Amino acid sequence: MQKKIVVLGGGFAGIEAAIKLQKYGYHTTLVSNRDYLFIYPISIWIPVNKKSFDDVTIPLEKLSNKHGFNMVIDEVKRISSSNNKVELQSEILDYDFLIVAMGMSKLQSKGLEFTHSICGNPREAVTIKNKLEELIKKGSGKIAIGFGGNPNDPTATAVRGGPAFELLFNFSHYLKKKKVRDNFEITFFAPMEEPGKKMGDNAFTKLSAYFKRYNITAKTGIKIKEFTKNSVVFADGSMLESDLILFIPGGSGHPIISGSDLPITDAGFIKINDNCKVDGLENVYAVGDISAIEGPPWAAKQGHIAEVMADVASHNIHNHIINNKSRKGYQSQLNIVCIMDTGDGAAFVYRKANFNIMIPLPIIGLWVKKGWGFYYRNSKLGKIPRIPGM
Ligand SMILES: Cc1cc2nc3c(=O)[nH]c(=O)nc-3n(C[C@H](O)[C@H](O)[C@H](O)COP(=O)(O)OP(=O)(O)OC[C@H]3O[C@@H](n4cnc5c(N)ncnc54)[C@H](O)[C@@H]3O)c2cc1C
Repeated sequence: MQKKIVVLGGGFAGIEAAIKLQKYGYHTTLVSNRDYLFIYPISIWIPVNKKSFDDVTIPLEKLSNKHGFNMVIDEVKRISSSNNKVELQSEILDYDFLIVAMGMSKLQSKGLEFTHSICGNPREAVTIKNKLEELIKKGSGKIAIGFGGNPNDPTATAVRGGPAFELLFNFSHYLKKKKVRDNFEITFFAPMEEPGKKMGDNAFTKLSAYFKRYNITAKTGIKIKEFTKNSVVFADGSMLESDLILFIPGGSGHPIISGSDLPITDAGFIKINDNCKVDGLENVYAVGDISAIEGPPWAAKQGHIAEVMADVASHNIHNHIINNKSRKGYQSQLNIVCIMDTGDGAAFVYRKANFNIMIPLPIIGLWVKKGWGFYYRNSKLGKIPRIPGM
């Protein structure tokens, strides 16, 4: 009899899992509270007018039509693994196997409402664009861009710094193009002593050259106490005045998960083993940002890792069903791969065990990330072939 397989979440991880499961021959149901897949890595171009909101989305209906999975647009309210049920806003689904892929949430802090984040609600990218345009119209201003961590997470996987660096460099370049760069102060802030070190020593050393080149000052190594309408207030009493504060808080667990019966870490991420199977359960898997990734201290939650995990979980569910004992693992596949866009170029960052590199790509870099965006959209829609491992 056909097994009922349900995937929760229509982001990088959930879509990849649904596609893989369909390929194995299982009729899969995917639940998402958005009717589009948001391609976060290229959303950094919305604020600087290089992409529209629609350019950064793929309608889920198109993906469902292409790959054949059943799509349900609804809000997940509760997961009850003890009786194999998922409660949605408007119905209850039961399952034989479940893959949870609903992404992560943001750590709350005092005054967070005075900040904007490129890493949460997709529509925020448009708000940031409008705020930047207002400042440009005004003719001058102070912009603060930073990120934080999650003290409850002993790994660094709750920290998302890459998009903050990309915004810093892109904003600087955009303001220069508008011929108003000299009228703006752009400051980077983060509580860590060495923010960006996760990318490796090589990348970390080169970052300071980028800061110099784009005329960005930095305030790091001091804890953030709170945000006010026009400032970042630090634990030592110092303040950073700003007309626009962009902040990526440390990641934390998804609120639905803390109200469900799945095992979670102190930071709220779902506990899994190397096979992406949730601890203590035989038929529930968690993949992507929602899971507690275990690995080297520099391990990061990234889109391609979410896809690796989706592949691992789908493969292992299939082998479970066909009684094959072999299992795949995600930990040996952990690495950092990032095309860090700078507005007028890019840098290629790569890190794996015992190796890390950052290669500046001054001219070709302009096209590399654009090319990836084209590839991602069109390969997902089946218009061009997928390159294995990408
Ligand atoms: C600005 C930015 C830039 C980035 N750049 C890069 C990069 O250059 N390279 C890279 O590899 N990674 C990058 N990342 C990281 C990458 O985007 C994430 O790791 C990836 O999106 C994780 O995929 P996911 O499917 O786990 O979560 P998400 O993409 O967050 O998807 C979660 C899904 O779950 C759905 N959902 C959530 N709650 C519910 C609910 N209650 N009910 C129903 N559905 C729900 C959401 O609608 C969404 O469809 C970037 C991230 C950001 C934010």
